[in-house]
Amino acid sequence: MKVLIVEDERKVGQFIEQALAEQSHTARLVGTCEAAREALAESSYDAVILDLGLPDGDGFDLLREWRAAGFNEPVIILSARDAVSDRIRGLNLGADDFLSKPFSLEELLARVRALLRRQGGAKATVLEHGGVRLDLLARSVAVDGRPVELTSREFALLELFLQNRGRVLTRTLIAERIWEAHYDMETNLIDVYVRRLRQKLGATDDKPLIRTVRGTGYQFT
Ligand code: CA
Repeated sequence: MKVLIVEDERKVGQFIEQALAEQSHTARLVGTCEAAREALAESSYDAVILDLGLPDGDGFDLLREWRAAGFNEPVIILSARDAVSDRIRGLNLGADDFLSKPFSLEELLARVRALLRRQGGAKATVLEHGGVRLDLLARSVAVDGRPVELTSREFALLELFLQNRGRVLTRTLIAERIWEAHYDMETNLIDVYVRRLRQKLGATDDKPLIRTVRGTGYQFT
């Protein structure tokens, strides 16, 4: 399990980071809104533990941005602000849970586990966006109801895009996830695959589906 901890009180953050590591989880600790934005834009996490009072902004704003961008990582707010109005605001903005400081580490870990169990049970088997529908169980893809034949690598690439909608996926990340160790970064194979995927999905200039981010990679919009 991979957890992003957004916490500016270094001691608190390291305490959580260490506890997660002891349970064989991977944790990444960031202390500012800017670092949190970058972390979540470049990778997906199984859960996010989010503080509200951060030196360069408010955790509520981060949460609002993430949800608006389609990021659906489960978020637990961990804050000293525990008025009922704060809790309601957090949940309304799309937080999955709210724990007030001071907190018990045991309780935090139990809540993270509970959240992941719930997520696991409700994990989507159909990914859908912009008329594109990918069924993970049936291994089928349709665009506006019309079936589209994809090779297994094209399917994996589309799944990666749909799972990370709104996120700029770098060529390196795409290569690692789809080709694993077998990709030669000197080639333009990824671009060839993306072009073919666009064609098969019927992308047009008006509706490009997969946006090229010059010099970086691609973004499913
Ligand atoms: Ca804080």
